[in-house]
Amino acid sequence: MHGIMADTFEKKINGYYIDPLIFTHKFVNACDVCICSGECCYYGVYTDKLEHEKIMGMKDRIKKSMDDSQTTDDSLWFEEPQEDEDFDSGIAVGTELYNGKCVFLDKQGFCTLQKVAMEDKEFKWKYKPLYCILFPLIIINGAISIDDDHLDRMHYCNKIENQNSTIYDCCLGELEYLLGKDGMVELKEYRAEYFSKLNSKKGISEPVK
Ligand code: SF4
Ligand code: SF4
Repeated sequence: MHGIMADTFEKKINGYYIDPLIFTHKFVNACDVCICSGECCYYGVYTDKLEHEKIMGMKDRIKKSMDDSQTTDDSLWFEEPQEDEDFDSGIAVGTELYNGKCVFLDKQGFCTLQKVAMEDKEFKWKYKPLYCILFPLIIINGAISIDDDHLDRMHYCNKIENQNSTIYDCCLGELEYLLGKDGMVELKEYRAEYFSKLNSKKGISEPVK
């Protein structure tokens, strides 16, 4: 991650500063776990204590959707809680790894927490930790930015030959989740303004679409 301070950025929407790098940073057109096997989930994730409690509150349901590459022993699912001011509750609880991947990742590369929500016709991200929803985006020091540290480990979506889009275009749903519909209108305006300024600096008269 950049060693960024939120007030480095000029635009704030729905309480979040916006790092304009999200508009230009190259990325794949869409996630495809058939290609990447969900490798961003090989390292586990820190959940907020409240997210952890929500997950443990439905552990029996989650177990029903796990496969034989996962463990149904829920005592193996999470690390010990630790104080962490980056989380709303002030306490972070990391997911454990099992078979070289987050305990909730199945052998097809799908997150069981998302799978359960979809099987039960709930909102797909109802049980998914915020940091998992957002990646490759991240909220750092109050700004929506890019999780460079984690992205650098990826062999598919971080390879230039596969990057035919931008993080912004790939993550419109994730951005709307954070900013809401009105916030997205504001974000689009800010993006147009940002490119227009960039182009005028370069002496290009036509704005980028
Ligand atoms: S972020 Fe990268 S590694 Fe994770 S699912 Fe998408 S393409 Fe795969
Ligand atoms: S909780 Fe789900 S999305 Fe998050 S790292 Fe684990 S498998 Fe991946």
